[in-house]
Order: sequence, then structure tokens, then C-alpha cells
Amino acid sequence: MRATAMYGAGDVRIEDVPDARLAEPTDALVRVTHAAICGSDLWPYKSMEPSETGRRMGREFVGVVEDVGPEVRTVKPGDLVVAPFLWSDGTCVFCREGLHTSCLHGGRYGQDGVDGGQGEAVRVPQADGTLVVLPDGEDDALMPSLLTLTDVMGTGHHVAISAKVAPGKTVAVVGDGAVGLCGVIAAKRLGAGRIILLGRHRDRIAIAEKFGATDIVSERGEQGVERVRELTNGFGAHSVLECVGLGQAMVTALSIVRPGGAVGRVGVPQEASIPNAAQTFFDNVTIAGGSAPVRAYIEELLPDVLDGRIEPGWVIDRVVELDGVPDGYRAMNDREALKVMVKL
Ligand SMILES: [Zn+2]
Repeated sequence: MRATAMYGAGDVRIEDVPDARLAEPTDALVRVTHAAICGSDLWPYKSMEPSETGRRMGREFVGVVEDVGPEVRTVKPGDLVVAPFLWSDGTCVFCREGLHTSCLHGGRYGQDGVDGGQGEAVRVPQADGTLVVLPDGEDDALMPSLLTLTDVMGTGHHVAISAKVAPGKTVAVVGDGAVGLCGVIAAKRLGAGRIILLGRHRDRIAIAEKFGATDIVSERGEQGVERVRELTNGFGAHSVLECVGLGQAMVTALSIVRPGGAVGRVGVPQEASIPNAAQTFFDNVTIAGGSAPVRAYIEELLPDVLDGRIEPGWVIDRVVELDGVPDGYRAMNDREALKVMVKL
């Protein structure tokens, strides 16, 4: 079969690999119909050391179950399934707490003999705990939104929950990437009274406004902080969603949160420490969040996607075939595309 592998910074290839097939009795074999390129795929795209063997890529996909191991109970061949970006058993102590990212028997796609999602098929371990079956005959128009349940929409929901978004609260979103925009959807869905997006890209701002952003702050750094304070009677926002991961974004987030407020973070931190320790201490600011347990949120978010109450698929602005994946990486890295869907 054919799949995506990365051999170094800027070097993404589509190549022939061994066919995906069942190995454990709890596996499912899924033929991928739609996959996505993730913002976090861009970190190795920028910095990976050259590799002889390459690294299989992709962790966000929807597909059709082709075969299952003898211990699989909840999915069967023919089912259309959505796969969250990590696999998990659904039964361990952490999964039962909704923290599937810490599953005792979970893991990542694209390593240890598990296929990546940007390819023709994937062996999915712990299929019962991982895969969620979609209703039959979902039309193609809904597919971009369903695909976001594998990561960005669940991550946007997680950052909103972490930042304690609640009805009537003022929310600020730092970052206008796919996760930030899904954070706007999540904040609106949870009843936020006012949603301030910090972002500068005109096309992304348009999507944010469609999703429910009420105010846009395009100034950067100290000026952006001042602008948010002006909009919030000088206090700052109750809930700040930090959706970038770079140090400056965290400084901004911690500078616009109101005393007693909360900052949620879901961008993988690229710095070793969290800034503004003393100020956030005296202001009783909560800092929460982390790798999003998106599996825990799919059942809650899926009905809203199916009914069209939320349309996170708008963050996908380019569709490629498998052969177009390398150029999809380039386009996302050059900020020519916001998020790329792969249609197989
Ligand atoms: Zn588990």
C-alpha cells in the first residue's frame, strides 16, 4: 500500500510500504477515506534531522473498517469510523476518568509498528476503546467537520473546558490557527458572552466571526494586550485559550487573563517554563490544559456536527489526494493553507 513518510525537514514522500494488517486480537484494520495534516506535523517538517528510514506520518483519519481481530466487539467490517489522534483501551483507570491521553495501554500512530493516518490503511490497536462508529451513509459535505473530531475540534473544546468557559463569560482566544478557531466554536457552544480573537489573518478572522467571535484584536505584543484590556474594563478576560504553544503566546495569554481567571493551553509548549510566575500567583490565575483527550469528547460533539449546529469543517481550506500530501505540508508550512484534508 502507499503511505506518507517524512525523511527530514521539508522532505515528505509518498512511498510503497508493507500492507497494514491485523496483529493483535484487539486490532481493527481501517481503510482510510479521509485524513488530515496536523499543525503538530509541521514541527518535524521544520526541524527533523535527516533520517535513512523515514518516519510514518498522520494521526487524524476517518475510514471504513475492513477487518477486526477476534476480541473486537464494538466495530465490525463495513462500519464508517472516526479515529482520535491517539489510540486507547477505554477501560483503564485514566480512560474511565476521561483522560484517554494517559491510557495505560494506549499509544501513537506512526511508530512501534502502527501505521500513520496519512496512508491507504491503518492497523488500529485497541479498536473497541479507540474507534467511534459514524451513522451510515454520511454525505461528503459533512466529512471535513467529522474529520475535525479526530483532533482540532476536540482540542478546541478541551482548551475551552480547561479555561473554565461558562455562560456569560468573556473569553479571549490567542491564535487563529485551526485549534484557535475551533476554540471559538467551543466557547460559543459553552455559552460565552463575548469572544475576543487575537489574530491577524484576514481569511481566518472571517471564519472566526462566522464561528462566533465578537471582537478581533490584530495588534501584536504589548499593544494587543492593551487592546484586550480596553475591551474588558481594564480587567482582562475570564477565560483565555492559548492555542499556539510558543513562549510569546503564553506571555500574551497570561497578560490578558483577569484575576481569578483561567488560561487553558493546548499548543505543545516550545519553551521549558511558564512565564509570569509571580503575577499569576498574586492574581490567583489557574493554568490548565495539555494534550487533549479528544476521545472523551467525540460522543458529546458528534450530534452537534451531525445536526449542523457546529461546522468546524470550515477550518479545512484545501483538499488533496495522497500524492498531493507533500505539497499540502508545504502549503500549511507557508501559511498558504490553514488545514489540509487528504481524500483517498
Ligand atoms: Zn485506557
